[in-house]
Order: sequence, then C-alpha cells, then structure tokens
Amino acid sequence: MKPVLVIGGGIAGIQASLDLADRGTKVHLVERTPSIGGVMAQLDKTFPTMDCSICILAPKMIECYRHPNITIHTQSEVVGLEGVVGDFNVKILEHPRSVDSAKCTGCGLCSEKCPVKKPSAFQAGLGQRKAIYLAFPQAVPLLATIDREACLWFTKGICKTCEKVCPAKAVDYEQKENTVELNVSSVIAATGFEQYNPKDIGEYGYGRYKNVLTALEFERLVCASGPTGGVLNRPSDGKVSHNIAFIQCVGSRTQTTGYPYCSASCCMYATKEAVLIKEHEPSSHVTIFYMDLRTFGKGFQGFVDRAQSYWGVKYIRGRPGEIREDPRTKDLTILYENTEIGKVEKMEVDLVVLCTAAIPHRDNRKLGGVLGVELDEFGFFADKDMLTAPVESSKPGIYVCGSCHGPRDIPESVAEASATAAKAAEDAARAEVK
Ligand SMILES: Cc1cc2nc3c(=O)[nH]c(=O)nc-3n(C[C@H](O)[C@H](O)[C@H](O)COP(=O)(O)OP(=O)(O)OC[C@H]3O[C@@H](n4cnc5c(N)ncnc54)[C@H](O)[C@@H]3O)c2cc1C
Repeated sequence: MKPVLVIGGGIAGIQASLDLADRGTKVHLVERTPSIGGVMAQLDKTFPTMDCSICILAPKMIECYRHPNITIHTQSEVVGLEGVVGDFNVKILEHPRSVDSAKCTGCGLCSEKCPVKKPSAFQAGLGQRKAIYLAFPQAVPLLATIDREACLWFTKGICKTCEKVCPAKAVDYEQKENTVELNVSSVIAATGFEQYNPKDIGEYGYGRYKNVLTALEFERLVCASGPTGGVLNRPSDGKVSHNIAFIQCVGSRTQTTGYPYCSASCCMYATKEAVLIKEHEPSSHVTIFYMDLRTFGKGFQGFVDRAQSYWGVKYIRGRPGEIREDPRTKDLTILYENTEIGKVEKMEVDLVVLCTAAIPHRDNRKLGGVLGVELDEFGFFADKDMLTAPVESSKPGIYVCGSCHGPRDIPESVAEASATAAKAAEDAARAEVK
C-alpha cells in the first residue's frame, strides 16, 4: 500500500500515525520542531484524571519512533503537494540539525558545555536552554540540535566547543537541508494551535508585571521537570505563592481580539491547575474568575464539583477589568465586578494566571496554500461539513484532526485522530501503487 502523510507530531498526529501503522499502513510523520510531542509534552497533569501528561505521552512517542511502519521527519515542513486523492506527490524540506542523527547518543554533554543561553520554548520561556540542546529530557528522537541563530560558530565563527566535547563525533556544521519527495495516498493535517499573546490586553499587565503568567507558563512552573522543580516560586522575587487567581477567556469570547469563540479546554485546565496548587499546598487560596463554566465532557462537572467542595477552590463569576501591581512588593490587585452579587470588588494576590485563547497556528495560511485547502474565518483549517464530514478538509483525501481545525481537548483530538486514520486507511487500500 502507498504511505500516508501525517503533518504535525502532537498527540493528534501521533495517534493518527500509530493507528495507521498498527493496521499495516506506512506513515511519514512530519514535525516542524526537533521533537514530536506538541503541547501535551509541556503539560504537568491532564484533566479530568490528573494523570501525569508525559507519562501517558512518552510511551506513544517512543512507539512511533520504533514502529517499523513509521518514518519521522523532525525539523521538517511540507513545501509542495500535487495530485489527487490516492496519488499525491509531496515535497518535504528537512532543515539541518547540524548533528549527525546516526551518531548522536543524546548524552547532552555538548549542551552542558555550550556557553550560549537562550530562553527555552519547552519551558514556555521561564527556563533556559543552550545554543546546542535537547528539546526536553523525553524528546523523540533524543538528538541534539544546533540553533544556528544563537550558535557562536554560525554567528561569529568562534567556539566549536560542542564539536570538541562530543564523544560520538556527531556535530556536523556543514549539514545541508534535504528535500524528500514521496507519493502518498492521502494526507492528515494535525498541526495544532497556538496561544494568544495577552500583551495586547494592557490592563492585565502581562509582559510588564512579572507575576502575571499564562496558563502554559504555569504548567511549567508547577511541573517537577520545570524550571523551579515544581515549587511555585513567583518570578519577581522567588517567593512561594500561596494566593493565586486565574482569569478565564483572556483574548477569547470577545470581538476585540478577533477570537470570539470559546477555547474549549480552559475552564477545565484552570480547574486542574487550581487543584494542582491545592495538592502542593492545601492551605493556599485559589480563585477562578469565569464568564460561565463549560464542563461538557465526561467526568468534567464532577471534577469541578470536587475542586470546589473537597479542595476549596473559589469560583467568581465576572471578567476582571484591571490588574494593578504594587511597585514595591510586586503583589497584584485584581479589580472585578462580581456579577452574581452585582458589586465591584478587589482582591489581592501573589500571582495571576491568564487562560488565553487557543488561536490558529501561524503556519496555517502557508500550509493551507501548499495543500490547497480552505481556512475558516479565524484561520483554522475549514471542515468540509461540520455535521456530516467533521474530519474532512475542503479537498478530497486531506483530513484534519485535533486543534488545527478549532480548539480541542486531548480526548477529542485523539478520537478525531483515529477517525482520520480510518478514512486515510480506506484511501490507502484503494490507491494503486505505481
Ligand atoms: C495550558 C494548557 C493546558 C491544557 N491542559 C489540558 C489537559 O489537562 N487535558 C486536555 O485534555 N487538554 C489540555 N489542553 C489542550 C491540549 O493541549 C490540546 O488538546 C492538545 O495539545 C491538542 O493536540 P494537537 O496534536 O491537536 O496539537 P499540538 O499539541 O499543538 O501539536 C501540534 C504539533 O504540530 C506541529 N506543527 C505545527 N505546524 C506544523 C507544520 N506546518 N508542519 C509540521 N508540524 C507542525 C507542532 O510543532 C506540534 O508539535 C491544555 C492546553 C493548554 C494551553
């Protein structure tokens, strides 16, 4: 059978690849970054079960890597596609890692000795990485990568420390980009989402006030593999935070930002993060400011009920109007209308977490153009028919799953991934091998 192309190595792309590979179909999985895993790899625990996120994901990532029917192309992008369902010619551009993947053992010595530090995307900018780095400890493939824009050899023609210390002689500054051409029966897009940058909402002070974080940054702060080892040291002074507030719908459900839709998982992940704070320190005060609670999934309402009744998480209905910082202590005051009692009130906290809109990936327009598929009014991939063909794109043979076609939580992304795999397997079975 002809192979299937899967674009995006988050949980959706991983699940689609595994489903196809397990039924005997060859898969090429293309991931833009140095490792597969997506956002789920950055999460501490997952709602509503409170399972350790990487403990669920890592075995799937490794299974993908070891599966004889799956070829993973990391640091890669799809730059061309021609043809019709059953007979697509695809061009994949593999960007250089500057490290020989056949020789690198992922020991990390190069990274340890590298003198250049950069903010780590995996740690959501709260921690640092080196110019040569492993994406994260459980990265798949576990290979070092040189960030050419930061590396002293590429920018100034000096250093080469990594080459000197690498016991496997894997560093290869001369590596070039490589184009791979394939004939595939169908394509699954699983390129995920991005987070709205709340800097534009000036009244919340994100970017100006150190103790205002996004929920993804908080996931890294609370995680044992995060920059503080899971201790809730707030960024301004390292003080352990015991009084924390979450603000829902930041950038979403408003026409002002252009993202008027619901971001689907924030009510639940705010509750999860609130419970994590209570698990760390039960005497902490945790408040969630919400517009309305959307707890529609299996076990979701019970999870919120338990957060309130067992853990004592406080929910206040109201969208805060402003956050003010005490310039001396860096403590924060939230001004809000409590809509349940119709009163304007204030609350003092150590740390504020903003639950920001899930927005379309910035690459969608470019990738949509390459694939020849339509985008919706916001920039997510459009569905052929929301009711009767919810995982099909506007082009036959190209399928969509996970949050690349609208905000989704993990269970929904996984269910859709399996649906696209079933569709793609049918195409593969029908396609004639040339
Ligand atoms: C703070 C926070 C907490 C959350 N907590 C939970 C939770 O507890 N439980 C839950 O169910 N959900 C949670 N979610 C939602 C969850 O993160 C998403 O449901 C899940 O990540 C969607 O998976 P995905 O594979 O569709 O997308 P992603 O995880 O975004 O993965 C997409 C992948 O595609 C790659 N990619 C993008 N563009 C391209 C391209 N052009 N070419 C190749 N590759 C590309 C990306 O690099 C990435 O690896 C949370 C979300 C946030 C923001």
